[in-house]
Amino acid sequence: MAAAETAAVSTPGASAAAVGAAPFFAAAREGKLRLQRCRACGTWALPLRTRCQACGSSAMQWRDASGRGTIFSHAVLHRPYHPRHQGRLPLVLAQIDLAEGVRLQSNIVDLDLDLDTDADQIKVGREVEVAFEALADGSGTVPVFKLV
Ligand SMILES: [Zn+2]
Repeated sequence: MAAAETAAVSTPGASAAAVGAAPFFAAAREGKLRLQRCRACGTWALPLRTRCQACGSSAMQWRDASGRGTIFSHAVLHRPYHPRHQGRLPLVLAQIDLAEGVRLQSNIVDLDLDLDTDADQIKVGREVEVAFEALADGSGTVPVFKLV
């Protein structure tokens, strides 16, 4: 179970789907951010959990999240480490604290900034909202974020 409980949902590949992230990516294709939530106490979960970390219940369910959050941390990527980055650099990597109380790694997109000179305008605590990006290879859709 350890692998399933710690699996990231930041990539839509077969390994993530195999451990239960399929509802996350199915929702993303519909333009919805859907996360696990405990039916017993209402605590949201990310990464995937088989049991609630707050109350221990196994009654985890998938629910639509608000898609709102704030930037917890960020960095500007200048070198590609994934095929998805080719032709898109520089790209802002960020950890987003969602309103539901969980943290998601993603990208900040649609910036009207020159990231070589204006990256300091991306700040911890700035509000963001979810958007969705279809992967160029057709393998899925991932949530990304825009500044509010
Ligand atoms: Zn719970």
